[in-house]
Amino acid sequence: MNYQKCVLYNRKAATCRRGSAAAIGTVPIVIIFLVFGCARRNVIVKESRLLLGTICEITVSGEEPAKAKEAIQKTFSAVERLQRSCGYDRDSDVSRINASAGIHPVKVDTVVVEIIQESLKTSRLTDGAFDVTFAPLKKLWDFSGGSGRVPSKKEVGKILPLLGWRNIKVTSVGNEVFLAGKGMEIDLGGIAKGKAIDIAAEVLGSAGIKNALIDFGGDIYAFGERSPGSSWQVGIRHPRRKGEIIGRIPIKNGAVVTSGDYERSFFKDGKRYHHIIDPRTGFPAQKSVSVTVLSGCAMTADALATGIFVMGPDEGMSLVEKLPGVEAVIISGPEDSPEIKISSGLKGLKLEY
Ligand code: ADP
Ligand code: MG
Repeated sequence: MNYQKCVLYNRKAATCRRGSAAAIGTVPIVIIFLVFGCARRNVIVKESRLLLGTICEITVSGEEPAKAKEAIQKTFSAVERLQRSCGYDRDSDVSRINASAGIHPVKVDTVVVEIIQESLKTSRLTDGAFDVTFAPLKKLWDFSGGSGRVPSKKEVGKILPLLGWRNIKVTSVGNEVFLAGKGMEIDLGGIAKGKAIDIAAEVLGSAGIKNALIDFGGDIYAFGERSPGSSWQVGIRHPRRKGEIIGRIPIKNGAVVTSGDYERSFFKDGKRYHHIIDPRTGFPAQKSVSVTVLSGCAMTADALATGIFVMGPDEGMSLVEKLPGVEAVIISGPEDSPEIKISSGLKGLKLEY
């Protein structure tokens, strides 16, 4: 990854809020504008859609507007296809896999096999902290602003035996996936957005786009430059002060993905309960506040951010230091005395909490 000067900051870092995980919509907003103040004018084309339950925004810089708009349309269509495979509709690949748990393998799209294989790799790396089979626990938790109910340990304990990434069987030759246990379920919410971002980068690149910022609900991939001589810049959100960032990372070609306890959560008796679940306890992971991961691959960064969040700062950072091409910022601790760990490859990064 190449770090240069900075211009933009990310939406998760600022104001973006997620919709319901299953929300699907098309709210095309097209903005074309010229950026002055640089040595020469620079055309920026920006479009957003509600996809994957979040606001997906693509910004293309320095391109003829018609070409940029066409490339962005193609990109959103590709993301819609991914959403159909990985979403919660009854006939999605994921729903079919879940419905056939313990019964028979299911033939799925190649991209679903790829995502599940990356999930399993991340489960291995994080020693099960990342585990897409956490899904049956979702019946007990509602982080969408609904009931705000905290399930009992007994309720959670009854579900835990259904979890286990080792019981996911994948055959890439026939593109088949089988959940070996009856009652097992998977949920790709911790990784599919990352894959969508990688697909977006690929489609834009193949359409001849040289400079773009892909921002799907605050998870980012940037390539090229924002304007000649000045790079894209991604902000790391202050996890406790809405609308504020703690620093900016210039990105030339790569992903910056954050998992935070502030994304979807509720308070009960003064305690925060949030959407990143420790698969070993069935309760929200306690050790981190936010984890930002940088990688050349957004899918890798997405899964790792969730897994490292569960592992916590110590184990999480030692994993990051072992992984080539992966960097991270991990925030933990109470607001008045936070601990911020920065990986060795980001030395020199200035953060203000
Ligand atoms: P966001 O999707 O809000 O950007 P994350 O990337 O951190 O946030 O993913 C959180 C989502 O991951 C949850 O909403 C849930 O669908 C899924 N998830 C929660 N806990 C785990 C876990 N331990 N392993 C894998 N996926 C998880
Ligand atoms: Mg994630």
